Amino acid sequence: MITTQGDREMHSNISINLSKKNNSKRNYPTETRTYSSKNTSSQSLYAQAVNGQLKNPTARRTTHSTTTASTNWTTHTRTVNSTRTTNSTANTRTTSRTNYTQWADKTLSSANFLKHRNQAPTQSIADLRKLVKKDEIPVRVFGLWGLEEIWINMTVIEYKDDIIIVDAGLEFASFDMHGVDYIIPDISYLISKKKNIKGILITHGHLDHIGAIKHVLSELDYPIVYTTPLALGLIKRSQNDQDQKKMKYKIIDPDIDIIKLWEFLVEPFRVNHSIPESMWYAIHTPKGNIVHSWDFKIDFVPAIDKPADLGKISRIGQEWVKLYLGESTNARTPWHTPSEKLIGENLDRVIRSHPTQRIVISTFASNIWRLIQIIESAVRHNRVIFLAGRSMVWNVQLCQELGYINVPKDMIRLVSGEIDQMPDERVMIVCTGSQWEEFSALVRMATNTYKDFMIRPGDCILLSSHTIPGNEKAVWSLLNTLIDMGIDLVDEPTLALHTSGHACQEDMKEMMALLKPEYFCPIHWEALMRHAHKKIALDMRIPEEKILLPKNGQIVELYDECVLLSEKKLKLDTVTIDGKWQWHLSWEYVTKARGIMSQDGVVALIFKIDTKTRELVGNLQIESRGFVYSSEVKTIHTQIVEIARAEYNKNLKKKMEIKDNLRSIKDLLETEIEKIIWRVPMIIPMYVYINREALTTPVQQNDEEEIIGMTLEEQGGTEEKE
Ligand SMILES: [Zn+2]
Repeated sequence: MITTQGDREMHSNISINLSKKNNSKRNYPTETRTYSSKNTSSQSLYAQAVNGQLKNPTARRTTHSTTTASTNWTTHTRTVNSTRTTNSTANTRTTSRTNYTQWADKTLSSANFLKHRNQAPTQSIADLRKLVKKDEIPVRVFGLWGLEEIWINMTVIEYKDDIIIVDAGLEFASFDMHGVDYIIPDISYLISKKKNIKGILITHGHLDHIGAIKHVLSELDYPIVYTTPLALGLIKRSQNDQDQKKMKYKIIDPDIDIIKLWEFLVEPFRVNHSIPESMWYAIHTPKGNIVHSWDFKIDFVPAIDKPADLGKISRIGQEWVKLYLGESTNARTPWHTPSEKLIGENLDRVIRSHPTQRIVISTFASNIWRLIQIIESAVRHNRVIFLAGRSMVWNVQLCQELGYINVPKDMIRLVSGEIDQMPDERVMIVCTGSQWEEFSALVRMATNTYKDFMIRPGDCILLSSHTIPGNEKAVWSLLNTLIDMGIDLVDEPTLALHTSGHACQEDMKEMMALLKPEYFCPIHWEALMRHAHKKIALDMRIPEEKILLPKNGQIVELYDECVLLSEKKLKLDTVTIDGKWQWHLSWEYVTKARGIMSQDGVVALIFKIDTKTRELVGNLQIESRGFVYSSEVKTIHTQIVEIARAEYNKNLKKKMEIKDNLRSIKDLLETEIEKIIWRVPMIIPMYVYINREALTTPVQQNDEEEIIGMTLEEQGGTEEKE
């Protein structure tokens, strides 16, 4: 069992008694939690709220007009008076109602009534800027990546000396990054402020949200991670032993917990997604409430999960949301996202209708709800599940440990030679590879390179996934290969075997209607999706000046009276992980070089230079790989050497420095080689000093002599030529 490990070094503590609910399948270990706070006057209101000491419904954080509402903040022991800071829109609404009463006395026209009611108050950005008080310090919100893409998610929320972080994810590198493994957020800004970091809040356990944790924790001196058991298990799986020991974490339950983090009061709440224990955060700050989303759908009848906590979401909306950061993944997809339960029922029907064949199901290992339904269905039909693919095996094992999968242990096994000994009707393979990933289990099974299992004609193959944009060609190749093998293919177009884990347009509208945000930031994917989400917000009557589209690193500032997009923008590098090492900028040179080499090959030239006279000694040495065909080698190499030698001697007469000389040769060769054979290889000039007088043979190289190569930067970059 995973246990809660608190850090006990923090400032004054607020104890919250939590009444554990017995109907949960999850087994949370703690009944009483201790969360920390710093007792400052500016956040004493929150402290009172947490302790239930806030009795006076007229309590105010600010002196300007305020609406009040008594609200049961949680379902257990506390009653908290909402003290939302009234904003300009609320004022306008009040004014509008007053005006309407006066106005309605004068006219009885329905058309005028509707026109009047639909008039949204508008303010220019300049009007909003005037609302900022002199020397007012805002709450700052910005993404260290993750706002303009669906990966590398990491948001920072900062007020004075307090920082909280939401998620820290990665993106697997695309093929055009030539061997880079993945990309993580650039946390340079946080490293200088690591003492201010009060915690990292995790929304769910997908790698695009937790994959960078193993890199950032040590660099940030291990701030406390607030998470759930499944995400914690997935984080720990990626860490080395040392980081596992040093990591500090608290398990939170979105149904009952509130977290006090210095100036911030954080309230998690349940949403649905393709993985258990997904949640969002309502973050109560001194400048208003922020709702921070990330991956979600609304599933009223989930197969195993609880539905999204719409009641709590509605209550948070009633208490006023100043800023909503909403995920935009499916903003161009109409209607609602179908329930995961529907997909499970369809899969069960397919399994039942293929009673005699071996069945192979390929799906995303990250879609945990799908995995659970597939496994339960297999057991229902008396099939043994054989797992293939490392991530698939890890995820199923973790779900067994946490109690999400409760089938007899011997019904789940690893793919092995025993499959051939079993009757076909008892076999179900569950594997990765639906996107035709090069080394995935399904691809190796289909190409007869998987050691313990080969697909054979007559097998039933189910693809329970969608095609990720950009993978269409690869997936077509997979389908053609499988069909040519004579398999019985059942995929998404045949029957609904997949549903998205993300909300569609109507779900986004529902969330927006419940939260009723004053300001809105569409986040989480490219401009196409974010602008589609903006259009939804406009349709939902959020004024355009209150919809912000920050770029990664651009700072959103919350003031008492407004929210503004700052002119300030953090400069963010693309931080890559390549094998063991982490790189900031030099990866660009490396991957560009790999790209050029993969296209037109590489040519290396070694110049032997007399120590005293700087003249060339003997012949130039030339080597190439992947550049010319065997019939061209002699001719092309000879031409290259002649051009290089002539250019060197010409530059020598001008008394050009050695490195400048070689750079000039490289530039010239790129132009000349392209003229000769229409290719531009990577050219690597190197040199070695030779003491000609000491040599018996002029071209012999002394053991102590060192060949000196120029770095790619010294060569003047690796820009591809037209
Ligand atoms: Zn996700």
